[in-house]
Amino acid sequence: MPIRRLSEDMVNRIAAGEVVERPASVVKELVENAIDAGATRIEVVTAGGGGALIRVSDDGGGMAPDQLALAVERHCTSKLDNGLDDIRSLGFRGEALAAIGAAARLSVASRARGADDAFEVTVEGGRVSAAKPAALSAGTRIEVRDLFFATPARLKFLKSERAESAAITDVVKRQAMAHPDIRFSVTGSDRSGIDYPVATGADAQLTRLTQIMGADFRANAVPISAEREGVMLTGFAGLPTYTRANSLAQFIFVNGRPVRDKLLLGALRGAYADLMKRDRYPVAALFIALDPSQVDVNVHPAKADVRFRDSGLVRGLIVGAIRQAFAAGGLRSSSTAATAAIAAFRPLDRAAAYRAPSWTPPRVSSGNAALATGFAEESQAVFDGADQPSADIPQAGPEPLDVARPLGAARAQIHENYIVAQTTDGLVIVDQHAAHERLVYERLKHGLDDNGIPSQILLIPEVVDLAPEDVDRIVDRAAELAELGLVVERFGPGAIAVRETPSMLGAVDAGALVRDLAAEIAEWDRVVGLRDRLDRIAATMACYGSVRSGRRLKAEEMDALLREMEATPNASECNHGRPTYIELKLTDIERLFGRR
Ligand code: ADP
Ligand code: MG
Repeated sequence: MPIRRLSEDMVNRIAAGEVVERPASVVKELVENAIDAGATRIEVVTAGGGGALIRVSDDGGGMAPDQLALAVERHCTSKLDNGLDDIRSLGFRGEALAAIGAAARLSVASRARGADDAFEVTVEGGRVSAAKPAALSAGTRIEVRDLFFATPARLKFLKSERAESAAITDVVKRQAMAHPDIRFSVTGSDRSGIDYPVATGADAQLTRLTQIMGADFRANAVPISAEREGVMLTGFAGLPTYTRANSLAQFIFVNGRPVRDKLLLGALRGAYADLMKRDRYPVAALFIALDPSQVDVNVHPAKADVRFRDSGLVRGLIVGAIRQAFAAGGLRSSSTAATAAIAAFRPLDRAAAYRAPSWTPPRVSSGNAALATGFAEESQAVFDGADQPSADIPQAGPEPLDVARPLGAARAQIHENYIVAQTTDGLVIVDQHAAHERLVYERLKHGLDDNGIPSQILLIPEVVDLAPEDVDRIVDRAAELAELGLVVERFGPGAIAVRETPSMLGAVDAGALVRDLAAEIAEWDRVVGLRDRLDRIAATMACYGSVRSGRRLKAEEMDALLREMEATPNASECNHGRPTYIELKLTDIERLFGRR
């Protein structure tokens, strides 16, 4: 199709706005053009975070010399012949090359398929040169140098070269996910390169996702495939136990176009709502395909938002398909407890507990003593075999009943995570995982303040596979991680070797820890100050050093945990802001049983 100037009417109907905000948006537009041109191979080269150079070469259909001047002119496109209701290409606005030509030094070299020669035009400060012969064997090569040299105010808004080059990688990754039949590479002096070879066969989509998200994703994701009223949903959804600390690993595509759409992300969240902790995020790559007339992509200039004719249908499809996939795998969502009981339980008013008269050992009657002994013996039997390696759990000798303490005396552990304790006038339920997480976090911070944090050397260093940019993130922060006792080093372009871990974390899943830390660091654009960063690292680590739910505790271990909580600041909340324990007063219990 030839490139045509859009009618004024059409220009007015196209979502207006700037498409060139930063180097990554240039890369997005150029890669989209290459995909639209039918390329099977797209090479991106950058320098200086894309600010100095972006070069995108493809082996697609190319352009004839008389088309080149039109290509860089505003509102000229070869893609809108069927109108806005039937968009089958990624581009349609005819604005990108013109906008880039106005903001940078642009050159467009191209050889139309079947033609003998290649030609090139250059644009500088909006002025277009005549087409002249160029050396190019096939396809199109677009070079963008000195981005924003003509608009210096824009330069101020750019982040560090590293951040801009990471954003470029991210853009290419997203496009590559949707096009396993195209080989993508990104190289340059400012980055560790990526290269995704063409994936073919029935497994092509999963193969490409594995290239990008790692073998871990493959092992922890279930295939999604559903259709409703002409809307197709395919892709892979991570298991509810395979989570991230942020939403950066959620990828959604509509007709091959990567989108970050609130409705779709909300639907994804909804699908996991009661399967996963509130503060964790699912991992997923979902591909929606539907008739172009059923979706409006002309909402936002960057085309990251879409509007569906029937958004309820799409939402229901996503939620239903994911839930069904998990149900088929034998997983079940958790049930909700009785509302009345929940309302009666409340986080303990710690301040009030400490205002209470100071603690004095209770008199132990012989009956109580017998009870206590019975409990200890029985729990001993129950807890025998609790030999899992664990973090450093506080140990204490058997004590007299601790009922009068703020958190009371441990009576039992239920569901291998909840400690039930008796207080003077009620009962306390402690979430042992959440509580211990807070204790470890406070201990790590304490260690930072005074004598440092001891680490243990792993006999065999653990090698953790990571995306190259995550490797960079971790390696960049190696000194800070070492302050907290985590010693890592680069292990090739796509892996990290963990040599030492903080001793107080016990036997820790180093792979999961390092991956979470990488996700945490990826969000650090705004975190300034070493101490702030160290605290955040400590918080992420604490989660791994905690007594995970599922570990049985001895009676003394439970009591010792309660006592340490009483002595630790902030112990009533875990690092994620959830309560670590709740209290039910005897009067509330009586109310529940209709005694009051
Ligand atoms: P749009 O993609 O919205 O049409 P652009 O400004 O990005 O607008 O591109 C203008 C036109 O230049 C496209 O419609 C297409 O015909 C042509 N073009 C751009 N890049 C390429 C490419 N890599 N290969 C072939 N043609 C291209
Ligand atoms: Mg385009």
